[in-house]
Amino acid sequence: MKIVKKNVYYCEFCKKHSLRSLAEHEESCTLNPNRHCKLCDIAGFVDSKLVDEAINKIFLLPFEQNTIGYKNIKISEQQRDELTSGMDGCPACLASVVKRAWKIAKEKGVGLTFEKLDLKERFNGFWRDMNSTRESYD
Ligand SMILES: [Zn+2]
Ligand SMILES: [Zn+2]
Repeated sequence: MKIVKKNVYYCEFCKKHSLRSLAEHEESCTLNPNRHCKLCDIAGFVDSKLVDEAINKIFLLPFEQNTIGYKNIKISEQQRDELTSGMDGCPACLASVVKRAWKIAKEKGVGLTFEKLDLKERFNGFWRDMNSTRESYD
């Protein structure tokens, strides 16, 4: 029998781990507060501090409270579009807003729900758009 010890790399921000370095992942991890958005780079979007702004705004929104005192912030589609209006529809930046806000909400003991989030569909749509732009250059 052979026992091999290997280093396991853990992302400092999310639960991702790997046998290969996650340095590149960490740089753009959607839970990294100082992330650099690679998707914005690819699409030529402006990568700014809009994510921080959107998160701050979420926690200023009025919340629902039930009889046992449980608070919940519910974000409608329209509110979400307003919060992310300057992001050019970047799905990774939206994912960053959502995931970081969820983490903060958990720490605060507040519920946070987004109506019709469809993150996966948004990522698919992003790559579809990128590919069709590329093809039109040929
Ligand atoms: Zn990560
Ligand atoms: Zn982005």
